[in-house]
Parts: sequence; C-alpha cells; structure tokens
Amino acid sequence: MSEGMRRAQVLLPFPGEGLFDYWVPEAVVPGQIVRVPFGRGAKLGIVWSLKADPSVPDERIKPVDAIWEGLPPLPEADRELLEFTARYYLAPLGEVVAAMLPPALRRRKREPRSKGRGEEGATEPAGPLPELTEGQRAALEAVPRDGFSATLLHGITGSGKTEVYLRLVAECLAQGRQALLLVPEIALTPQLTERVHARFPSARIVCLHSEAPAGERSAAFVAAMRGEIDVVLGTRLAVFAPFVRLGLVVVDEEHDPSYKQFEGVPYSARDLAVWRARRWNVPIVLGSATPSLESWASCEAGRYRRVALSARASGQPLPTIELIDTAQTPAEEGVSAPLAQAIEATLARGEQALVFLNRRGYAPVVRCGHCGWVSRCPNCSVNLVFHRDDGRMHCHHCGYRETPPRSCPECGALDLQPVGRGTQRLEERLQALFPQARIARIDRDAVRTLAQWETLLEEVRAGRYDLLVGTQMMAKGHDFPSLTLVGVIGADAGLYAAEVRATERMFQQLIQVAGRAGRAGAPGRVLVQTEFPQHPLFRELAAHDYAAFAARTLAERRALRLPPFAFQALLRADDEALEPALAFLEAARTTGREIAGREGWPVKVFDPVPMRLVRLARRERAQLLVEGGRRPALHAFLERWVEALRGLPHPRSLRWRLEVDPLET
Ligand code: ADP
Ligand code: ZN
Ligand code: ZN
Repeated sequence: MSEGMRRAQVLLPFPGEGLFDYWVPEAVVPGQIVRVPFGRGAKLGIVWSLKADPSVPDERIKPVDAIWEGLPPLPEADRELLEFTARYYLAPLGEVVAAMLPPALRRRKREPRSKGRGEEGATEPAGPLPELTEGQRAALEAVPRDGFSATLLHGITGSGKTEVYLRLVAECLAQGRQALLLVPEIALTPQLTERVHARFPSARIVCLHSEAPAGERSAAFVAAMRGEIDVVLGTRLAVFAPFVRLGLVVVDEEHDPSYKQFEGVPYSARDLAVWRARRWNVPIVLGSATPSLESWASCEAGRYRRVALSARASGQPLPTIELIDTAQTPAEEGVSAPLAQAIEATLARGEQALVFLNRRGYAPVVRCGHCGWVSRCPNCSVNLVFHRDDGRMHCHHCGYRETPPRSCPECGALDLQPVGRGTQRLEERLQALFPQARIARIDRDAVRTLAQWETLLEEVRAGRYDLLVGTQMMAKGHDFPSLTLVGVIGADAGLYAAEVRATERMFQQLIQVAGRAGRAGAPGRVLVQTEFPQHPLFRELAAHDYAAFAARTLAERRALRLPPFAFQALLRADDEALEPALAFLEAARTTGREIAGREGWPVKVFDPVPMRLVRLARRERAQLLVEGGRRPALHAFLERWVEALRGLPHPRSLRWRLEVDPLET
C-alpha cells in the first residue's frame, strides 16, 4: 500500500482470537499501543507481531488511525503473560487482552494524558520504623533477593506479615524497581494503601480494583506503562498491570478463593503472579495464616520455601479456642448459655465481641408447618431466603425477590414460618439478650460499597459498637484492636459437604475469624458452637495447628488422588433445558476419550453430570470433569480437545466454557 507502511497483526480486546491485520508505519515495533478503525468505530489494540496473515489480501487491509506516541511498547514479558494466560486457560487471546486493557481506555477516542507526577520514586521512609520482631527478622533473612524464588510466608494472624512485605518493598524501591502487591478483596485495599502511603510518602502508588473510577484505572495503566509507578496495589485484576522494572511480587492472603476470576477468562491471579515473578526473575512472597493446600504441598515438594512467623507482633498469645458442645449445651435460638455469658462479660469490660455466622438474611427458608412446602426460587434450584429489612424472600443466586404468600400455596394453611437462622435473625436474638448493646451487622446486605465499608470499619475501631454480627466479610485480614471475643455459630455446615475443598475453606475461615480476637491489648477468646467437638478438624482448630490440619487433609487428598495430587479441568455447559447441555457434554466426552486414547495421554475423562446447583437464573447446568496426574499431559490433551469442542455442533442457546484448575467441582 502506501510508502513507509507494512502489515502487522494487531491484538484487539475482542471475544475471540482478536488478531487482525492493519497497515502500520515501518518504524512500529511489537507492543506499541495503536488506535485502529474497526467496524464503524475505533478500537485500541496492541501491535502483536510484524507477521501478517497471507490469506487476507492487501486491499482489504486498513491503516491504523494512530500510534500512541510517547507510550513505550508493552514489554515482551507482559506480552508473554497474555500469551501464557491464553494458552494455560485455553482462552482466546482477544478475551485475555480485554482483562488487561482497562475498559475506559479501550473506548477512548483520544490518548489520555498520563497523570504521572514525573518526579523520581521514593524511599526515604516516613518516621521511625517499628523494631522488627525476631520472627520478622528471620523471615526477611530467609527470603532470597536474587532472581526468582517463591516463598510461602506462613504467619499466624497478627504476626506482622505486612511489616515483612513493607521491608521488602523498601528494598525494591531503593533499587529503583517496582513492586506488585495483591490482596484478595477490595475491602482490604484501603488499609494496605494507607500503610504503604504512610511508609513511602513520596512513592507513586496506584490502587487497582474493579470499583476504582474508570478514568483512574486508565490513567494508572498509562502511568504504569511509562514506568511512572513504584507500587501497584490491588485485587486480582492488578496482576495484569504492565511493568517495566518489576522487582517484587507479594500475594497477601494467598489462600483466598477471591483470587480466582469467574467471569470471562477464569484465571487465578495468585498462579499468574507466580508466573510473572518467574518470568521477571524476581522473588514472590505468598503470605497467609492459612495457606492453600496447593501452596503447602508446593513447599513439601520443594518448589516453594516455607517461612513461619509463629508469634504475634504485639507479643499477645493467640486467642484460646474453646468448643461448646451443643449436643450437651443446647443453643437457644442460636446462642448457647456459655456464649451468652462470655458476651455479657466482654461487654461489661467495655470490650468488643463478634458473633460469626456465615449466612446472611433472616431465615434460609420459609416453610409450611402443615404440609412441608418450602419457598423455592422459580429460576434456580435453591430455596428463597427470607429478609427482614424488606419483608421479602430473596434468591441469593439470581436476585429474584417475592413477598411471602399469606397462606401456603400448596395446602392453603396459614402456618408459614421462617426456618433456620441468618445474620438478621441472630442480630434480633442478640439485641433481645443484650438490649443495651450497640450492635452492628456486617454482611453484604448491610455493607454494599467500599465507602460504606470504610465508614463502618472506622466506627468499629472508634468503639461506636459493642457487638458485631458478621459473615465471612469479617473473617479477612482486618485489625480490630478492641475485639476480644469471637463466637462462631453454624460452623458445622461445611463439615460434611461434598466439595473437595469444603473443609479446607471452613478451617481457613475459622482460623481467620478467630484471628480477629485479641490482636492488641487484652487476650482473646474464641467460642465455637458445634455438634461435633470430637471431629479432628475442631481439635486442630482448638490447637491452632494448621500444620496438622494440612498434613491430615493432604494425606486424604493424596490417597484419593485429588488436587493438588491431580490436575483438573472442568467443562461446563448450560442451556434452557438439561438435555441439550448433557448431550453436548456426552459428545465432548466421546471426543475426549478418543483423543486421549489415540495419543496415549493419561487423562481421565469422566461422565457428564448435572451440577449440584443444577438450575441457575433459568439455565440448566451440567459439567464434565477431566483429570490428569501430570500437568503437561493434561494440557496437551486440553489443547487438542478444546479445538474439537469448538467444532462440536450445539443449539444456539447452549453455552459452554472450560475451566482449568477449578476450585469447585
Ligand atoms: P498480619 O497481617 O500478619 O495478620 P499485621 O501485619 O496486620 O498482621 O500486624 C498486626 C499488628 O502488629 C499491626 O497492628 C501492626 O502494626 C503490628 N506490628 C507488626 N509488626 C510489628 C513490630 N515489629 N513491632 C510492633 N508492632 C508490629
Ligand atoms: Zn402447606
Ligand atoms: Zn434464583
């Protein structure tokens, strides 16, 4: 075409492979950001390769609109991150790049100006640093600084893991390099941002998460590409932030399932963070009081090193954990007498207590006392949860709401009762027991936005409340200095669940929520109501013995050849009815078994089954599990299989997706 132009492939955020040919100026190099005409509009993309697709004739190719001058090309390592993500999760490259480019940037007509302050980064730390505990000092010594290494920092709750991260960040910044800090939840970002800011007042820090204003996210992306950022801090999406001088990666609360993305490309930010650190040849620290059994097993296998922080930074002991046998001491409307007494004593001392119940709403079901009818969601295979706030029944899966009928729709009896207990009902009960107490309920109904959450945290810290009722929102790394008592209700639910990771989650949650007690002044106490005090999980919990829990659970998994001793992928299909979903999966199974058999790949292709929660938002869902003892064989299989799946006929209404390393099977 024109003088000084050549053809190149440009990667566009597009649901598909996303590679399209354009004319670009000769001087363009891979990684440059360009604006291209696309359909009737324009799109932002990345120059991917200077090779062209020979099957598309020159005259069908358009020139790019503009090169983003002044923005350096995306480094090769980051382009490889996109490629790796696409390959590992069997996702089209165009969808993966959509996870990296902030949405506002993609829609932009003109290049935004970076707001980078241009000044050189940081180090002078602010004020005197706390003297490190012995454990922190040992931990810092144990983390290698040269080249790639993965360290699991197993630090009990309140052991001061953050201080270890901050010291590592300080060294990283002193070398003029950049640090990436990941936390599992938006709610945890303000606390960490504040601490990083306070420690490095002149460092350029950006905080990335899905609630950050769109303009801020694109400005941060641009600044990061220009290398004008010292610290990127954020939730899972921050794992895709571009870097030019990455020097350190930290993944806090590494066990948290929120690192897994469910919409779009189902990636694990923790696992991608490890990949990034390896690619950049820099250290990564994975911190947790309750490490994932995957990471724990990686330590046993020598892939990660393990460093323990086994004392609290404050010098306080861990809280005592006592089990209340509800078979002996029945709970009255949820609260047993010993728990009620402990709360009373705590409040009398002017300290705070938390009662943990991981179920929101008032009652998990409305039931007819006469015929046994229960409230069900018309769109999903779940019960409707009664909420007291609006007096309606809610579906916690699809959002459907309905006013409870006056009489039973089945038998007409007037005997409809809310059955069971959620946080709202527990709050009511506690208010009746402690009429003087100022109670805050902390769950997703009461706290919807980051701003509400921050206000509430501040009020709790300021002592505005005596008694907290909360779900797992409370079980994450927050620091409440006056909280000395934690009561746990309804913990037995996870004990005999069918999910592979149900007990792991339960144990992690209980250790975490217990860890909120007694972090500052007074010693903490935890009371767990259970019908199964003899269960090994509760004995390990009472002893704060994560290692024993991990050893026992890993031995079980090894015997049953479950993850992390096997690798899995899950193919899911959904449609308006179950039959087509199952039929698609049956065809997928046949094809899969053929491929594995022909190639001799040791991969097990299971039979399709309806999902446990089979109906969701009017879609019927089924799944098929694939398992292999070795990752390379499984991946070789998956690559071939997914190609075959793309060619399988199915009704238009059917959707399918493949998930690698599923957390729930
Ligand atoms: P973790 O993340 O391990 O649960 P944090 O990092 O939140 O623990 O630390 C718990 C508390 O201990 C915080 O209030 C923190 O300021 C304090 N702390 C951490 N390290 C030290 C230290 N070396 N000396 C005194 N206090 C410390
Ligand atoms: Zn009835
Ligand atoms: Zn529903």
